[in-house]
Amino acid sequence: MTPSSSPEFDNSYAELPERFYSKQAPTSVANPDLIRINTKLAKQLNISPEWLTSPEGIATMAGNHVPAGAQSLAAVYAGHQFGGWNPQLGDGRAVLLGELMARDGIRYDWQLKGSGRTPYSRGGDGKSPLGPVIREYILCEAMAALNIPTTRALGAVTTGEMVFRDQGLPGAVFSRVAQSHIRVGTMQFFAARRDTEALQILSDYLIARHFPAAAQTSKPVLSMLNAIIDRQAKLIAQWQSVGFIHGVMNTDNMLLCGETIDYGPCAFMESFDPATVFSSIDHNGRYAYGNQPAIAHWNLMQLAQALLPILDPSPEADENTAVAIAQAAIDGFQNLFLVAYQDIIKDKLGVSSFTADDDSLYQDLLILMKKERADFTLCFRRLSELANEGACINTSIREIFEFSDAFTPWLQQWRQRLSDDPQTAEQRQAQMFKANPVFIPRNHLVQEAITAAERNGDFSFFNQLVEVLAKPHDLDPQKLRYAMPAKSNEQVLQTFC
Ligand code: AMP
Ligand code: MG
Ligand code: MG
Repeated sequence: MTPSSSPEFDNSYAELPERFYSKQAPTSVANPDLIRINTKLAKQLNISPEWLTSPEGIATMAGNHVPAGAQSLAAVYAGHQFGGWNPQLGDGRAVLLGELMARDGIRYDWQLKGSGRTPYSRGGDGKSPLGPVIREYILCEAMAALNIPTTRALGAVTTGEMVFRDQGLPGAVFSRVAQSHIRVGTMQFFAARRDTEALQILSDYLIARHFPAAAQTSKPVLSMLNAIIDRQAKLIAQWQSVGFIHGVMNTDNMLLCGETIDYGPCAFMESFDPATVFSSIDHNGRYAYGNQPAIAHWNLMQLAQALLPILDPSPEADENTAVAIAQAAIDGFQNLFLVAYQDIIKDKLGVSSFTADDDSLYQDLLILMKKERADFTLCFRRLSELANEGACINTSIREIFEFSDAFTPWLQQWRQRLSDDPQTAEQRQAQMFKANPVFIPRNHLVQEAITAAERNGDFSFFNQLVEVLAKPHDLDPQKLRYAMPAKSNEQVLQTFC
């Protein structure tokens, strides 16, 4: 890679049969301007940051230029949206520009989101206002810094054009990077058309790209399904552990590679309540915080259903044997989730192994948090400080959060539990600090970044926020304001797509 050279694209998805996508160039925009690039990610992807910030790189991120070698396309999919079946969806406001081989040896998609109409846009304009681009950039990079599998932000540009929603809003295009964009809904699209050949082609593709070990087994598609279930169980456990609420867990928004995707009306919970919902379109609380594991399970059931025709390749197999192995795979989800979740809870509580009693210890804490309307993040961070009270901590969360008296008996129980645990106080605190971040992308801060960007084209707060959230565990006394929950007049109770 020379400083000014454009990246080398590869196009494996474009080599699939035509019915998987439509060839589609992004739509040019009037006057692109750079918001931000992710230098570290660009380098990992073998993209020269100098090129990415050059006029050609900015034109590429805006959709005004398709680099040589990139075969851009819009992918087709279907999906269950809020439980209702939609047989025809697809990239309606995004195009896959092409794929890049990264330094970690993994192939990544570079997608432009908000890049204009495609055959799957139907009524929509295919564009994106600036607000959702800012939100997605902040949220996905915060998730990455928390070590939660996620699609990433490579960069973002404004378009110099207005996008019309309820009002005219400045437009933007988001450069999204993912290990792939194949969804539960992609399989469902072909299953619904009884296109067994396409199911097999897509499964072979997924196995080669994400699950190579499955190819060595006697039932590769079943092994792939089990691996997908395993990744999702771990992913949702991680979401729950930081209070992340996705908001639109439709089957078209669940990636088979196991990364979090589609940061629409998502948000992080502040005061703990499992019924928390932010999304303006989730009227019945289907995608509430506490429902996320059950919804993931339901989505995976739809995937297993879609894969039924190709699940069991053995000659004696029939529909009943395929149903039986699909059911067994799906039944594994709950346990995989629990094991993953308990492994994180153990770190959040500061114990070296999870015992049967720790479940009730944790549940009791959640009940108290709900009753006391305690901030989920700060509660665990303060608890981490209490794990080693003798330690000299640079700054204390106590300045902005302290346990109320109602927690005293629980804290006694917790200390009792710790006294049975072999770790030193230092070890315990290190374990807890790692599991209990201090900075999450709080809704009111995200909103402040969006408002400044929309009103004045001022990205300074957005840039600061991205930088603070890149180190979610390091409490710098200068940054305490980013750790504080929303005051009552700052609270953002609803988020929008
Ligand atoms: P989402 O809510 O982002 O999961 O989107 C659901 C479906 O609606 C996807 O197929 C999108 O491509 C499509 N869609 C969302 N917004 C637009 C838009 N502005 N123009 C065209 N299609 C859209
Ligand atoms: Mg086609
Ligand atoms: Mg979507």
